[in-house]
Amino acid sequence: MTQQVNDAVNCPKCHQEQTFTLYLPVNATLDPALKGKLLKGDLFKVTCEKCGHQFAVMYPLLYHDMDKQFMIQMSENARPAEDATRFRLGQNYRMRCVGDPDHLEEKIPIFDEEMDDRAVEFVKLMLRQGPPAKGDSMQSPALLFAGISKNHPRGPQLFFVTWPPDRKTCLAVSWSDYERYVTIFDKEFAGAGSGRGRWERVEEDYTIRLEADRGRPAPPEK
Ligand SMILES: [Zn+2]
Repeated sequence: MTQQVNDAVNCPKCHQEQTFTLYLPVNATLDPALKGKLLKGDLFKVTCEKCGHQFAVMYPLLYHDMDKQFMIQMSENARPAEDATRFRLGQNYRMRCVGDPDHLEEKIPIFDEEMDDRAVEFVKLMLRQGPPAKGDSMQSPALLFAGISKNHPRGPQLFFVTWPPDRKTCLAVSWSDYERYVTIFDKEFAGAGSGRGRWERVEEDYTIRLEADRGRPAPPEK
């Protein structure tokens, strides 16, 4: 089961000390209710017992889904912690590092939907860069995957929101376009392998890094 550890935190407003529960790791297979709390952002939130002020507490969190075979390490340096590397995971496992709770909450539904997160990042890059003539539009805000609408009138759609800070601007990509990007990704970046069996940080600059690694001119960075 998920191990719980209590730690003391101080309210940044009134300095009241209180107990905060850390979960090490969050095992979605054994504890689906805890997964629900995580996706709502509740595992990083504290409401001060004295003044009612809400504040966030960051701590390295390891997320493990044994059924879907993936593990995500969230930590400020976006590297797998020692606890994470101790697991003996099969070659089919997807292991990812992310640097903040928003990207952790983004990855989980991508893997829950059995999608390729590398192709999703490729889609985001294309959305931000626009057609080749607008190659400098990486100035636009970063994007977060926000879910799939399966019953959309135009067929299944992937949704993305701007991040940070507003999450207001919403962009949609059809499932068929996503599949097209998967095909392009697999063809263009065959050398990247399957994206399984090793720890990787897969964010928007992933394909830019792949381009750079194979010595091709990389698309403009922001
Ligand atoms: Zn307080």
